Amino acid sequence: MKDIFDPPQIPPAALNVLIIGGGASGVLMAVHLLRQPAPVKVTLIEGRGAMGAGIAYATTDPEHLLNTRVHNMSAFPEDPLHFHRWLIQRPEHAKESDQGFVRRSTYGAYLGAIMAQFENDPRLTRVFQEVVKLEETDLDLQVQLADGRRISGDRAILATGHVTPDQSREWPLVGAWQSLDAPPPQSRIVIVGSGLSMVDQVLTILRSGHQGPILSVSRRGLLPRDHAKTTPMLIEDRDLPLGTSVSTLLQWARRLAVAAERQGGTWRDAVDGIRPHVRRIWRSLPQTERARFLRHVATWWDVHRHRIPPQSQARLNNAILTGQLTIRKAAFQTAIARPEGGYYAFVRPFRSQEVESITAGRVIDCRGIRRDPEQHASPLVADLLARGAARIDPLRIGLDVDDRGRLLRRDGSVNARVYTIGPASRAAFWEITAIPDIREQVAQLAQDLATVASPATV
Ligand SMILES: Cc1cc2nc3c(=O)[nH]c(=O)nc-3n(C[C@H](O)[C@H](O)[C@H](O)COP(=O)(O)OP(=O)(O)OC[C@H]3O[C@@H](n4cnc5c(N)ncnc54)[C@H](O)[C@@H]3O)c2cc1C
Repeated sequence: MKDIFDPPQIPPAALNVLIIGGGASGVLMAVHLLRQPAPVKVTLIEGRGAMGAGIAYATTDPEHLLNTRVHNMSAFPEDPLHFHRWLIQRPEHAKESDQGFVRRSTYGAYLGAIMAQFENDPRLTRVFQEVVKLEETDLDLQVQLADGRRISGDRAILATGHVTPDQSREWPLVGAWQSLDAPPPQSRIVIVGSGLSMVDQVLTILRSGHQGPILSVSRRGLLPRDHAKTTPMLIEDRDLPLGTSVSTLLQWARRLAVAAERQGGTWRDAVDGIRPHVRRIWRSLPQTERARFLRHVATWWDVHRHRIPPQSQARLNNAILTGQLTIRKAAFQTAIARPEGGYYAFVRPFRSQEVESITAGRVIDCRGIRRDPEQHASPLVADLLARGAARIDPLRIGLDVDDRGRLLRRDGSVNARVYTIGPASRAAFWEITAIPDIREQVAQLAQDLATVASPATV
């Protein structure tokens, strides 16, 4: 790794871009920028793990598969087979390429590999430190690292990803992404949540040979649906119900699902047809309707939209059939440690006023990644909010940003030098968590920044 104070050989007038966060979004952003025929300098700063890993691809469990097919996971929207080609050129992954859904760790390796192509490129500097401050001066932007060093740039891109809880504040719950020793093999494991991270946990627990019961509790008890062959419906822009109510949207989606089934397909064709339009639909919704969507429809949409590979579904179904896994509709209240060891999880079953206590060897927090961005703010975000350099969006799902992903200050003014990408920009776009959406967003932003870097040539 180069030292950040060792100036690279780059054109003196290059646009100096700081990317904060080296998960999938940050890596894709860096690569797309460096492919631009424009004078840019990129500093990619990652605070926790390997470049490209983030929370999705850091897993080493071979049971944790991508929930998106290989042909939708290319880093480059204009070259959809790029990831597939990368797989088949590598004997260690070639077998996986036939399966449609490869290991998430393999995707992490792919992101690492496309980043490695720029390893000796003097325009790229990689820094492994947490950014704790981002400040504006009249001339430039300054980031402060956790070790006290400062780096300046012309533009900053927040690729800080999902809001994840500080798990130490959730004790005795164990985090979905925390690695710990196995619980006693016969003990009951309670999982709070029934979404994708619950599926990950169950697969890991089953693979470890755990023999005790597994109980998943969630308010709605909805499980992610499985992937099957789809032919996404073609939906024209002019047919989108923009600026309408959630109930009208739901009726529209149901009509499309019925139409898909009449044509011999499934509801998946409708969901996958709607998906590319979600960002536009979301932006057109009045605030009250966005709030209604989050309250009543988001969970339902998520289980249909973020589907699991058939092989994961088969393992889950088998565990349900053998009685090892139970899915229960109940509201989790709290958990406490038992003096004699293990824990009590307190839940209130659906339509009941009574709270039940359940003994468990472990209680795992799989309530997902939608957390209050202020309550769970990182030092960087907390500082931006405290200084009024950023604000939380009215629905409290992320930093408030405009329709180009640029940060809004507390007074509502746009900071035209600070952008957000990926899940960090979800308040404006909602559906911006998966690679097919992120790669398009970063490709567009790379082009925009290239235009800034060399307005006459690009
Ligand atoms: C379990 C899971 C599975 C998924 N599976 C798929 C899938 O199969 N297909 C798909 O398309 N999408 C999937 N996703 C969606 C996923 O959100 C995106 O694919 C992508 O990983 C988002 O990357 P990100 O870089 O924006 O966020 P993150 O992965 O959250 O990464 C953000 C990075 O920023 C760093 N960071 C944060 N703050 C700072 C700071 N102040 N200073 C320095 N660094 C900082 C963090 O350390 C982290 O590495 C999955 C998501 C999850 C959670």
